[in-house]
Amino acid sequence: MVKFPEAEARFFKNMFVCRKCKSKVRAPNLKVVQGKVNCRKCGSKALRPVRRK
Ligand SMILES: [Zn+2]
Repeated sequence: MVKFPEAEARFFKNMFVCRKCKSKVRAPNLKVVQGKVNCRKCGSKALRPVRRK
């Protein structure tokens, strides 16, 4: 669906999905790695990058 690298980067950069409730959270990569980011909805820290593969 996304064809341009720029658009893809904009969409995927700093975007994470909660493993519990599947809501999207935009946060700096570093913060997520450090575990400082919680899901807004359920408070879970289990986030994954938007892209699965
Ligand atoms: Zn959640």
